Amino acid sequence: MAVNPEPSRSSDAGFTAAPDAPRPALVGRHPCPECGANLEWSPKAQSLRCPYCGTLVPWTEAQREELGNAVVEQDLAAALRHPQSGRGWGAERQEVQCQNCRAISVFIDGRTAQRCDFCGSPAIVAHEERNDAITPQSILPFKISEPQVRDAIRKWYGSRWFAPGKLKNAALTDTLKGLYLPYWTFDAHVQAAWEAEAGFFYYTTETYRDANGNLQTRQVQHVRWEPAAGNLAHFFDDALVPGTVGVHAALLRRIEPFPTTTDLKPYTPEFVRGWTVERYQVDLGQAAGINQQEMDAAVRQLCAQQVPGDTQRNLRVQARYQGRTFKHTLMPVWLVGYTYGSKSYQIVANGYTGQIAGEQPYSWVKIALVVLFALLIGLLLLSANQ
Ligand SMILES: [Zn+2]
Ligand SMILES: [Zn+2]
Repeated sequence: MAVNPEPSRSSDAGFTAAPDAPRPALVGRHPCPECGANLEWSPKAQSLRCPYCGTLVPWTEAQREELGNAVVEQDLAAALRHPQSGRGWGAERQEVQCQNCRAISVFIDGRTAQRCDFCGSPAIVAHEERNDAITPQSILPFKISEPQVRDAIRKWYGSRWFAPGKLKNAALTDTLKGLYLPYWTFDAHVQAAWEAEAGFFYYTTETYRDANGNLQTRQVQHVRWEPAAGNLAHFFDDALVPGTVGVHAALLRRIEPFPTTTDLKPYTPEFVRGWTVERYQVDLGQAAGINQQEMDAAVRQLCAQQVPGDTQRNLRVQARYQGRTFKHTLMPVWLVGYTYGSKSYQIVANGYTGQIAGEQPYSWVKIALVVLFALLIGLLLLSANQ
């Protein structure tokens, strides 16, 4: 691993490639053909767009040939032994860490923030990059545009009966932020051998006396146990493990999945310029451990499905994993982070599918009014019946 003694804001500092390796000089350096400004990704146009003159540059023409559509899987074991930073961010960047929620935000080409995009706290400090940071190889660009998500969040809020009224108008949609969250994706082949006892139900007829002393018959279920064994081969493709601390984990689960098979693009800074990127804090080793546990559980379940019979016990599985690879990728979310009273709440929307999940404060005044109203109706009905 290369050690760079000087912390640097430049993306090139993290490079461990040989000096004669192809540098990413061209990546992210495609200017607007009309005015020469930096291009940004437009979710509405599904295209690169110049923020100054509005010229659209279809992404496929601008970038795909140059990058060779290279969303490549990397060998996991090798990367865990020798962490490398890949091909860098391809642009100038700044990192800040929030002292409240700990999220680290990465800004490309100079834009910074006054407040944390995740929790709204003003307590943000410069974060010095670690040189072993793995940079994103791929990205799922935004598909849901800002007007679309504002509409959806307004509707979502409209359906919350017990939220304090002033939240609906104020703050909410002003603090809407488009963020790219760090994810790890893992592939692996597994060969598993299993053994178990398969149980088959059979029934016998028994006689008994009922409460009145009469002789009755009934069917009684028994289990005949037989040894069973089998093999399983399975391919895990793009299993996702989030690397975020900025978005509350329970909310994130409710807006997954992020489709990774069709629209994943090779990372280039055009996609993230003007957006905030979160730097991962679940590192590759931790994420690989989580992925291993999830695969073990999934393999056990797949083997259990193969056991014949009506029931089973003593399932033993021996699994061998091969060709484990990973990618570091960025997934789009829209986020409203706000504090109400002393608590912080988040509403998140999947930037690709539009799926929304949120947290909300409850207005005890409204709840109390509804309870009182129900009591009143009850009393009125009661008196009417008398
Ligand atoms: Zn332009
Ligand atoms: Zn924060």
